[in-house]
Amino acid sequence: MWIGVISVLPELFAGLTTSGVVARGIAEGRLHLEFVNPRDFARDKYQSVDDRPFGGGAGMVMQAEPLAAAVSAAQRQAPGRAPVVLLSPQGRVFDQTTAQAGAGLDSLIFVCGRYEGVDERFIQRYVDEQWSIGDFVVSGGELPAMTVIDAIARQIPGVLGNSRSIIDESHLDGTLEYPQYTRPENTVDLPVPAVLLSGDHGRIQRYRRREALRRTFERRPEMLTCRVFSAEDRKLLVDCFENEASNAKKQNY
Ligand code: SAM
Repeated sequence: MWIGVISVLPELFAGLTTSGVVARGIAEGRLHLEFVNPRDFARDKYQSVDDRPFGGGAGMVMQAEPLAAAVSAAQRQAPGRAPVVLLSPQGRVFDQTTAQAGAGLDSLIFVCGRYEGVDERFIQRYVDEQWSIGDFVVSGGELPAMTVIDAIARQIPGVLGNSRSIIDESHLDGTLEYPQYTRPENTVDLPVPAVLLSGDHGRIQRYRRREALRRTFERRPEMLTCRVFSAEDRKLLVDCFENEASNAKKQNY
């Protein structure tokens, strides 16, 4: 997959491109990141890409022209017509479904805003979609872009060493992942749940599914609304509420 990144601070991406999953994807040729700096398309000797907002107000706004020229330069290098995504706190909240869909594309271009944001006319003319990483504001689009690129890279076949990792993950089927444990069997005064040592694959699967449903219900109940449960999931949910009720009863007496 080819990803273009429009940023005035491309050096911020050094960590992403030199260590971890994305770096491996790049090294193995499954992912290519191309950085284009709008400052290279500025018209003045100071390489300015921002100016004061019309109508007054705090801060500076990124100008449309250097961004437009940077996007066009990236488009010329991209294989096919790369959709342009602006990282913005005003965008649709990015999720796992969007990550999976993104990984199915040949190319994508991310535009990282800075300062108070970008001239609206650039958005009207050049931006296909706006993605947010959550309902809060950070200082620039670079961290959101890195988050989104990492989530997409994990979905590209072959990028993760163990392809099972993305099958079991949180949000894949609308639930959170079950709890994880590793060696030793006893640590920080707590034992590992005995079922995980049983070697009984069916019991382990049922335990994990029940815990996934339980923690989704406890932590993110809205994820379970309007959901059609399988007969097995219904049984596991009932099982986990019955356990809860009997534990509560024991504690009361
Ligand atoms: N004044 C803008 C507003 O209120 O909507 C916020 C500008 S923010 C300080 C600067 C840049 O950071 C934005 O243009 C965007 O690219 C990026 N950004 C900030 N928060 C973000 C979020 N939650 N998701 C994605 N991008 C974000």
